[in-house]
Amino acid sequence: MKILCVGRNYTEHAKELGNAVPESPVIFSKPDTALIKNNEPFYLPDFSNDVHHEVELVIRINKMGKQIQEKFARNYFNEIGLGIDFTARDLQLNLKEKGLPWELAKAFDGSAPLGNFIPADEIDLRDIAFSLTKNGNTVQSGHTSQMIFSFEKIVSFVSQYFTLKVGDLIYTGTPAGVGKVNIGDKLEGFIGDKLMLSCEVK
Ligand code: ZN
Repeated sequence: MKILCVGRNYTEHAKELGNAVPESPVIFSKPDTALIKNNEPFYLPDFSNDVHHEVELVIRINKMGKQIQEKFARNYFNEIGLGIDFTARDLQLNLKEKGLPWELAKAFDGSAPLGNFIPADEIDLRDIAFSLTKNGNTVQSGHTSQMIFSFEKIVSFVSQYFTLKVGDLIYTGTPAGVGKVNIGDKLEGFIGDKLMLSCEVK
């Protein structure tokens, strides 16, 4: 399986990092070694002093496809979950300045905690509220109405370049409010008021 991620899919987040709002999705990937499952802890890597949380809705692909038209894209994913796209912001800024790829800052071990999923046909995809708390305080909250690129648009776009396979995951971008995590922090992610993910930073 592969993990694809969308950068800058929420206008307010693009602005908070000083980025322009993109005309087409910004895409990067993470290897499967980035995943953390079953609410296991995240170990802060020693190559960064500024690892940020980015809470994101995640869709799971349930049908193989390539060059998928947007109008058929909904047939290719069946579950929505919540994940965190941990980002070594100091490393990323350094790489961005040099025009280099982001992988070292985005795709390291443990950079993709993944929580529970709910069936996509049980919720209105245009009306999903989600949030992240850090030590009990809400630090990020987003809503699918704020997405620049819809789930269908993202599936269609990435499938022009990558064949999607069953089990592939797409992290669909983070809303504003990203920030640094420290050892001892407890992160909890919610869809609506339902707890979907928890992750302790060690
Ligand atoms: Zn992200």
